[in-house]
Amino acid sequence: MIVLLHSEAPRDSSGIVTETLSENGIDAVSTTLGGAALIVAESSGTPELAEMLEGLPAVARVLRVPGPQRLTSRAFRQENTSVRVGENVQAVFGGRDFVVIAGPCAVETAEQMTGIADLVQAGGANMLRGGAFKPRTSPYSFQGLGLAGLTLLAEQRRRTGLPVVTEVVTPQDIESVAEETDMLQIGARNMQNFELLREAGASGKPVLLKRGMSATIEEWLLAAEYLLHMGNDDVVLCERGIRSYDRSTRFTLDLGAVAEAKRLTHLPVIVDPSHSTGKPHLVGPMSLAAAAAGADGLIIDVHTDARAALCDGAQAIDGAQFTSLMDKLGPLLEAVGRRLAPTAHPAGSLASA
Ligand code: PEP
Ligand code: MN
Repeated sequence: MIVLLHSEAPRDSSGIVTETLSENGIDAVSTTLGGAALIVAESSGTPELAEMLEGLPAVARVLRVPGPQRLTSRAFRQENTSVRVGENVQAVFGGRDFVVIAGPCAVETAEQMTGIADLVQAGGANMLRGGAFKPRTSPYSFQGLGLAGLTLLAEQRRRTGLPVVTEVVTPQDIESVAEETDMLQIGARNMQNFELLREAGASGKPVLLKRGMSATIEEWLLAAEYLLHMGNDDVVLCERGIRSYDRSTRFTLDLGAVAEAKRLTHLPVIVDPSHSTGKPHLVGPMSLAAAAAGADGLIIDVHTDARAALCDGAQAIDGAQFTSLMDKLGPLLEAVGRRLAPTAHPAGSLASA
């Protein structure tokens, strides 16, 4: 159940609602989302309780949302949510434009970042990716440059004007990541790190939430609820492949989950064709398939010297492959009523409207 308060309701009105719910044995939290004060209850309650709450002067509306979703549900918000990322140049997820994020798996050096940023920007990317804090399977693998990596990202953000996304793995780093970049990425391995989710929600910064490799769609959406119930609805979901019995691809890209998530939630959904397949020759076909399946964008690993990459070089595509993919994406998107988002150029101006 979601209880929406009147905009002019006194500040303490939520207390009356939460107390009434509590008297009926229902836990609830109060929050503010998109400027509206609301109370989100754990259960959907009875029609009688909804009617009683609707009778309270402070209450504008009561939504009895079926199932476990609340604020992420289409019952709460029918129209697609647009998520704007960046300052001077913005990438907008969830509208007609299809947003392409590209860059290396990990930030390595200033030269590497300049080379790749120039290349993906020239190819039409709307945002730059690059990990500074890398959650690696082995503690002996390259763990990322940490704060020094954030500085290198911030440099590219200033130089190119491209909005930047990077992964944050611990609540203590949220402040620095929020300062130096435009979007916090929560990785597959941290999808259910609830403290991290809560803090990322409280940061007010846009969040890219990757699906856990063994997470159901419901668990993924409930992880997003953690962000929304903290008052942050600038959330983009990312399907990045799930674990299956078949090891011929790194993970199994679940495109059905993209279409299903789009049905269940108003939040934008993008696809990572790189981490899901682990194979550069599958990145093109799966990117096109994602666009056809209704995804709102892509996040792609691109590297200028993949063989020397310190992280996930084996799955990165090069500049020529990126350009060729972007050339194919345009007409395909047009066929499904979408378009590639306009690109940002070095001066930071939009090429076309
Ligand atoms: C990444 O995008 O750099 C990454 C580690 O992805 P995932 O969390 O999906 O494995
Ligand atoms: Mn990676």
